[in-house]
Amino acid sequence: MTGDAQGKPFKFVAGALCLDFVNSVGGRLRPPAGRRRNGGAILREKLLGYEELLLWSRLSGAVTEREAAALARMARQRGSAARAVFARALRLREAIYHIFAAVLDGRSPQKADLATLNRELAIARGRERLHFVEKQWVWRWDGKETALEHPLWPVAQSAAALLASPALGRVRECPGERCGWLFLDKSKNRSRQWCAMRDCGNLAKVRRFRARRAVGG
Ligand SMILES: [Zn+2]
Repeated sequence: MTGDAQGKPFKFVAGALCLDFVNSVGGRLRPPAGRRRNGGAILREKLLGYEELLLWSRLSGAVTEREAAALARMARQRGSAARAVFARALRLREAIYHIFAAVLDGRSPQKADLATLNRELAIARGRERLHFVEKQWVWRWDGKETALEHPLWPVAQSAAALLASPALGRVRECPGERCGWLFLDKSKNRSRQWCAMRDCGNLAKVRRFRARRAVGG
């Protein structure tokens, strides 16, 4: 659900960067079972342009504050390039959503979605370089300071890492009305049901309570 009540444009409750990216919408209408191939209709888009993409990236930690400021300056100078990256970001987000929706439904992913993810992943991996810093080996992105598309790299990598990990079995979809957010159930007894108890969980409780009262007369 949305975080607007607290004046925050985005919420990060999924437990995985790629799922938080999928959740950069107010919610999704769940289509009837088996008809989700083209995804649930988006309820209130929150990523409206490259600027919001940068804001999401900064708040999620995908890019640092300094990187975000540099990218914002660059985006102002290269408007059409920024718009192209933004269009790619939305395509990547929806591809990731469709792929995880397929996982949840026990279906194979659509070829086009997998191709979109693989394309962005190849770009991201192609930019990785191994560095030796203060006696430690670390992966770093090459040229991220000047790449408007840098925010997409950690998202693509996060999706690939989650898809190929045992944690995939812990991906859930919030059953909240008009929510449909995805998250990782990291609870020991696999009991997490809602994206956020404070939002969808409480709303469901209030609805159940009202329904009981109505029946009780
Ligand atoms: Zn929810």
